[in-house]
Amino acid sequence: MRPDPHTPSQTRQVTLPSGRTIEIVYLDEPPMPEPFVAEDPGASVLDERAARLAEVAHDLTLCGACGCAFVQPVDWDEAGPRHWRLELRCPNCEQRGTVVVEDEVVDHYDLELERGAAILARALHETVEQNVEDEVARFAAALDSGLVLPEDF
Ligand SMILES: [Zn+2]
Repeated sequence: MRPDPHTPSQTRQVTLPSGRTIEIVYLDEPPMPEPFVAEDPGASVLDERAARLAEVAHDLTLCGACGCAFVQPVDWDEAGPRHWRLELRCPNCEQRGTVVVEDEVVDHYDLELERGAAILARALHETVEQNVEDEVARFAAALDSGLVLPEDF
């Protein structure tokens, strides 16, 4: 008889910086197909696992102390053949923490970091644009009220 695909061979509990405790399940063998499913029978198991890994990766970006959504890794090292030890830092409140996660979580975490970097880049662009608009408006107002004269240049 083949082993039950839903029975994990090994589990481990990890506490994330957000304070949430997750259970990491190691599957030594690829998930087996669900019975009586016609197409791509392993897809739902894999989708569920990918969704869980993405959720864990997203949690790594959240600060448990202040709620900031931009917690970043300041260092990471391999911790065994399938795990990484991440040292995380909150840029808002300087909270720090260390977590050990599996390779697949780190793959999703890379995507989370890229998403966060894109959000920050967009916010910077909008801030610079708003500052330029404000500066032009102040200069125009100063010109209109005669506060800026040709001899000022
Ligand atoms: Zn924080």
